[in-house]
Amino acid sequence: MYRSHTNGELRIANVGEVVTLAGWVQRTRKMGGMTFVDLRDRYGITQLCFNEEVNADLCAQANKLGREFVIQVTGKVAERYSKNANMPTGDIEIIVDTLNVLNASLTPPFTIEENSDGGDDIRMKYRYLDLRRSNVRANLELRHKFCLAVRDFLDSKGFLEIETPVLVGSTPEGARDFIVPSRMNPGQFYALPQSPQMLKQLLMVAGMDRYFQIVKCFRDEDLRADRQPEFTQIDCEMSFVQQDDIIKVFEEMTKHLFKTVRGVDLGEQPFLRLPWKEAMRRFGSDKPDMRFGMEFVELKNEEGKNIFPEGFAVFDGAKYVGGICAEGQAVYTRKQLDELTNFVKSQQVGAKGLVYARVQEDGSVKSSVDKFYSQEVLQQMKEEFGAKPGDLILVLSGEDSNKTRKQLCELRLLMGERMGLRDKNKFALLWVVDFPMFEWSDEEQRLMAMHHPFTSPKPSDIPLLDTDPANVLADAYDMVCNGVEVGGGSIRIHDAVLQAKIFDVLGFTPEKAQEQFGFLMNAFKYGAPPHGGLAYGLDRFVSLFAGLDSIRDCIAFPKNNSGRDVMLDAPGFVDQKQLDELFLQSVAPEK
Ligand code: ASP
Repeated sequence: MYRSHTNGELRIANVGEVVTLAGWVQRTRKMGGMTFVDLRDRYGITQLCFNEEVNADLCAQANKLGREFVIQVTGKVAERYSKNANMPTGDIEIIVDTLNVLNASLTPPFTIEENSDGGDDIRMKYRYLDLRRSNVRANLELRHKFCLAVRDFLDSKGFLEIETPVLVGSTPEGARDFIVPSRMNPGQFYALPQSPQMLKQLLMVAGMDRYFQIVKCFRDEDLRADRQPEFTQIDCEMSFVQQDDIIKVFEEMTKHLFKTVRGVDLGEQPFLRLPWKEAMRRFGSDKPDMRFGMEFVELKNEEGKNIFPEGFAVFDGAKYVGGICAEGQAVYTRKQLDELTNFVKSQQVGAKGLVYARVQEDGSVKSSVDKFYSQEVLQQMKEEFGAKPGDLILVLSGEDSNKTRKQLCELRLLMGERMGLRDKNKFALLWVVDFPMFEWSDEEQRLMAMHHPFTSPKPSDIPLLDTDPANVLADAYDMVCNGVEVGGGSIRIHDAVLQAKIFDVLGFTPEKAQEQFGFLMNAFKYGAPPHGGLAYGLDRFVSLFAGLDSIRDCIAFPKNNSGRDVMLDAPGFVDQKQLDELFLQSVAPEK
């Protein structure tokens, strides 16, 4: 028997018991004739005590222990003289009788403490050591609990978890595929699924009725803090449903997860449902952070509103002028305002400049455009914002309304952050609904599916497919939490004729559509039920629960920003022989 208890288990009630513990040496302290060792495992830390006067040999052995040595000890549980209220085992210690070194350890390259001295790169290289840190481990524990709660809930609603293959053909989520050469089919490639989208639809054709899967998806995209080349979805699909049915089930699941995993009661109220267009207008984003207000106010728009007389060329030439009112921020110094201007002009945001106005104590407005507008105009602007003395008004303008709104969104989020309005322990959930079916791609010079090509248009908009496709709305919905898209999905097309029409609008020839999606369209000819679904980004959702800035911290072995696993040193080159078997040429640089 390696151990009788874990290191998080013993309490004052165990005093007097003889126990055996095993674990890693967190640290050793020598105090006079006494040596104390903190012994760690997944469950906690227990203090071991060695007394030179009682057993000098044993104490000498303890003094030789290095950090991260794996040891086993037997001893008696004793009450501590100086208790540690911050530790669950802080009332007791073990008076050790026998010490057995199970394995020595090199000195770890960084401290295995909550606040480690190791930078990101080194911690990723030695991720197995990083995972020994209690806060990193806690994220994985949370993830486990989250998945368990998802499975419990969906099982209780009759969902079946069904695995789908990883070696598939190209799937249409709009990113680049990872491809895998097939040795048995020379010159041909599998693609790794960007999601099991088509497979889950086929499962509906197969009559599975309610499907889910906690599943890896692969997208070869440029990486950011909330993206990984492989990530996990909670993928779901249901038959004989409309949008409302899906929203109801998954709103209930979300509330269940918040309550059981995060201890947050989201209440009885249904989540807000915000049409996409309104989300863009009020927040400049299809995933608005609704933990705080600071909504956009339009001063000039494409519907003919304009509070400004001619005089300031920038506004005169703009199609959209809008801004936010940051309450109580008129105290911003010139330097801080310059910083904000630099921020909006940065490449990441891309605005041309920032106009600001401070509301003075006497109610007058002092702004960066004073010389172009009378106090009367500035007062009207103040009224539009409902601004009070002490408030700071920040205004952007541009040629393209939605582009300017997106820039303003960045500014709103920054101000929200600075004003402490983005509290990680507060959760604001909503559905964004009524997405456009298509969006224009400048790059491809054609309409692209905003979700994916299997999304159903709103039935009432179907006639518009012929006359005005750009204005067709989709039966699509995203669940948003704190400015993060945690999930999204749609009602699917289940009619082969309508599906063919959508491919046509998307610029696929019938032959091309048949080549890429023929199996799905064929399946639809054999009695496809009406169906729909959605997928949650598991990593993002868990990160929100854990209050993390990056999804990496809740993934056991994540990749870095260049898509590398620095621990495994992957991707890597392979032998010429392996390439030959796959009929691939080496492009490896000369060694
Ligand atoms: N397959 C979609 C995605 O990965 C989700 C869905 O429509 O169910 O975003």
